[in-house]
Amino acid sequence: MLKGRTAIVTGSTSGIGFGIAAALAAQHCNLMLNGFGEEAEIESLRRGLEEKNGIEAAYCPADMARPQEIRDLVAETAERFGGADILVNNAGIQHVAKLVDFPEEKWEAIIAINLSAAFYAAKAALPQMLARGWGRIINIASAHGLVASGEKAAYVAAKHGLVGLTKVIAIESANSGVTANAICPGWVKTPLVARQIDARAASLEISAAQASRELLREKQPMLAFTTPEQIGALVLFLCGEAASTITGAALSIDGGWVAQ
Ligand code: NAD
Repeated sequence: MLKGRTAIVTGSTSGIGFGIAAALAAQHCNLMLNGFGEEAEIESLRRGLEEKNGIEAAYCPADMARPQEIRDLVAETAERFGGADILVNNAGIQHVAKLVDFPEEKWEAIIAINLSAAFYAAKAALPQMLARGWGRIINIASAHGLVASGEKAAYVAAKHGLVGLTKVIAIESANSGVTANAICPGWVKTPLVARQIDARAASLEISAAQASRELLREKQPMLAFTTPEQIGALVLFLCGEAASTITGAALSIDGGWVAQ
């Protein structure tokens, strides 16, 4: 389905981003991977995707908190593959604390990585998409892009901002062959959420399994985690012909979280 296309997936060395990269690779899409981690582990992920799917996968260690590194990531993709047809803004971090205690450097980092990075990446990648008359910008927002929870000021602000940014890109790109959409997952079991489960287990002196069940029960009518593979499948759908008039949408995949 995506043979000959190239996707940049930010934050694809782990969790949801890796699930998305694997789904795209399985459809023969070339990849520019990005994210932090052990060099040897990233190289093994990269090579695994190439060997399993017969694609080309490159890796760029750009820090999504740094605008110039984001521009370089897009430029490197253009040099290596002739441009990005698909941009998945997925890199993200979390910090949980009450507003009055919220560390200012955490606010700045979350706004930079979870929101501003998508602006810089889209600004750099969109001209090539418009010139070719086809493109997909997919922003991984969150249920927290649509509703709030306490103790997540920066994350909720960034994700609401990301949903808004998505709408603007969609309006400006209408009739160009480029669509822009946000995906709003509920709980997905990844290292980002595992840290929240461990913190809850420690503070309430309960097991990780119990903390995990309570985390789900608090927010989601459906007591199951969404998987990175399911998010990958939704990204593929958005890249397909059937989704060519879906733009500016914020698609929930959240076990009923925002239905309440
Ligand atoms: P994760 O911690 O498993 O992965 C995050 C990825 O982002 C990693 O590859 C990491 O190296 C990368 N990253 C972090 N900071 C970066 C930086 N400065 N520059 C480049 N890369 C950086 O987390 P995840 O759960 O897979 O989260 C992925 C996205 O999905 C995030 O935007 C997150 O907000 C969103 N999300 C997650 C959940 C969930 O329940 N896990 C729910 C809704 C939305």
